[in-house]
Amino acid sequence: MMKYAAKIKNPLRRKLLAWYRHHQRSLPWRNTNDPYCIWISEIMLQQTRVDTVIPYYERFIKSFPDVRTLANAPVQDVLKIWENLGYYSRARNIHAASRIITDRCGGRIPDKSEEIKTLPGIGDYTAGAILSIAYGLAVPAVDGNVRRILCRLFAIRKSVDDPRGQKKLRDLAAALVPSRHAGDFNQALMDLGATICRVKKPDCLICPVGSICRVRLSGLQESIPVTRKNPAIPRKQGAAAVIFDASHRLLIVQRPSSGLLASLWKLPGGFVHDGKSIKKCLRDCVREELNISIAAGSCLASADHTYTHFRLTLQAFDCRLMKGNPEARTCQNWRWATTSQLEKLPMSKIDRKILAEVASSSPLS
Ligand code: SF4
Repeated sequence: MMKYAAKIKNPLRRKLLAWYRHHQRSLPWRNTNDPYCIWISEIMLQQTRVDTVIPYYERFIKSFPDVRTLANAPVQDVLKIWENLGYYSRARNIHAASRIITDRCGGRIPDKSEEIKTLPGIGDYTAGAILSIAYGLAVPAVDGNVRRILCRLFAIRKSVDDPRGQKKLRDLAAALVPSRHAGDFNQALMDLGATICRVKKPDCLICPVGSICRVRLSGLQESIPVTRKNPAIPRKQGAAAVIFDASHRLLIVQRPSSGLLASLWKLPGGFVHDGKSIKKCLRDCVREELNISIAAGSCLASADHTYTHFRLTLQAFDCRLMKGNPEARTCQNWRWATTSQLEKLPMSKIDRKILAEVASSSPLS
């Protein structure tokens, strides 16, 4: 593999950089070398499509134009801007990292691999992207797209899902990245993976590196890279309580500061456990969360959402407060909220769907 890398290194760099000069995608974070902007865009792009990211990126940079502004903002404001982009730990990590950068690094994003990788949410790939694009350092940035291209270029038929396989690909990418134009080289690979060397139906006929690609003539492009089959995603059921006060404000709770969707707001409730009725689970969850007793009536709304590890069906029930005053037990906080207050608080997509359905049948104050 390394022998072939030494052989194709120069033509690969030349062909890719020439192609990138003419065919690079026009993206808002490509108009700058500001490490802050590169960092934010790279984090947003993890697990998320480019066209989804663009409006979020623009809003984020407008609200938090530099690392100090971000560090001084409450995390709730950052989560609100992030709403519906998913994988909210990314937003919490960005915020936590901004405070570290401000407090310990004098507001400058580190330009050393070992240092930048100590920041929350910055792993090998993001470090490589920031260091090469913003600082011009010859560091590889290897994500799923780049792994796929390398496996095809080198006809690697072994699975690269395990850490050893991924380390080998990183070493290979490190041997290929040039000392000049490293950022453009890495971005050229990203663009090639997104537009030509796609997962399905790679467009080998117009590929700029087709003449040096080992799988091109074999017809095996779509069978490489070899990946493990993902196990089936389990289904979970959730139940939520719709409780109004006398002024028709809605009772909502803030999730704990760690775990799934941490610190976002939602209706009281939780997961349904096997063997228990959904309403019994709801009553138990709400008692645990807020130390109140409720009576659960009819189902007002239902919504589905797929997370990385499970699919959720959430049902919301018309509920009445029977006994007690809410107190934050397993949640961080609680409040009675009007419609305009609900709009300002960060919530997940499924909770927003549920609220929209509830509001259509039972208007909030
Ligand atoms: S020739 Fe085909 S398989 Fe090889 S890198 Fe180009 S698009 Fe991918």
